Amino acid sequence: MIPQDSSPTVNASAGPADPASPQCLVVMYHYVRPQSTINGLSACASDGRIDALSVEDFETQLDRLCAKYEPIDWPKLCSWREGRSALPHRSFLLTFDDGLSDHARYVAPALKQRGLRGVFFVPGVILAKECMLSVHMIHLLLSRLGASQLNELLLAQLREAGDVTSDWLAFTAWHADAETLYHYETRDRARLKYFLTMRLPLPVRNRHLELMFREHIGSPKRWSRDWYLSWDDVVGLQAAGHTVGGHGYRHEPLDRLSETRQKKDMAQVADLFEDAFGSTRRPFSYPYGRVGDSTPTFCREAGFIQAFTTQERWLSPEDDHFLWPRVDTIHVDQFIEKESACPIAP
Ligand SMILES: [Zn+2]
Repeated sequence: MIPQDSSPTVNASAGPADPASPQCLVVMYHYVRPQSTINGLSACASDGRIDALSVEDFETQLDRLCAKYEPIDWPKLCSWREGRSALPHRSFLLTFDDGLSDHARYVAPALKQRGLRGVFFVPGVILAKECMLSVHMIHLLLSRLGASQLNELLLAQLREAGDVTSDWLAFTAWHADAETLYHYETRDRARLKYFLTMRLPLPVRNRHLELMFREHIGSPKRWSRDWYLSWDDVVGLQAAGHTVGGHGYRHEPLDRLSETRQKKDMAQVADLFEDAFGSTRRPFSYPYGRVGDSTPTFCREAGFIQAFTTQERWLSPEDDHFLWPRVDTIHVDQFIEKESACPIAP
């Protein structure tokens, strides 16, 4: 199972910081789709596979969380943050990144069945324009071509366009960072993802990814219609009581952008939601979990009232409201087991 491309700071065995105080396990999900579609995807599918959490495993995890802890929704978390109510001794909050159509098709019905409400973090550009995010173009190209062939074709294309320098290819300088960030990947896939996401200048990366996607997968516009939530889906999620938050506008690692571009990116997604849904307080999750020194300040200035990272630990009262932790679905069992090993009576 591939969790996400979101640079988790892994501390999976950590129990609650202060076992006696209320703590919330904020769980982060990305792809959730039936096992039968993981290898087949759709009519315009690639012939490879996208690693995803199956709906069956998702539901099993939901039931385990419900059996152990008390579910809370985002309004409840806000109420606690503002001192208007207390949190249960041990609770959990469900979050879903990237605006994937999986979330309306498979996640929302599973939540409805259990009376749960989640937080869906949507990148603005997928609603404003019909396009594929680079992160998903990379997943699909890797799925179709494999890391070795994609690497070979990409470098040939970069060289042919005069877009590659020896500096960008000096892989050894950033190998360790790549393998930490994409710790759940093979070394080749980790390095290639890192090169495309964190190293190549973004305009160059975007231009070449789109060319390769068109050649090997298909029309980004056509794919985006099936891959992402529509406006109607987002309206439906909100009508069902879920919360919709920002996940960047272009879904770029914010620490790669200038301060001006960071501000613009976060303001764009805030404005998009405000135009569509009115002035409503919303949370944010940082794409790839990447945060520069001033990113939390810019996020607050854009109008969001809390922000989630990918630092993996229990959320506690002491946490900075713009650097709240989340635990990836693949590490949830470890967190439950660790906490269960040292239960503290409420
Ligand atoms: Zn994301």
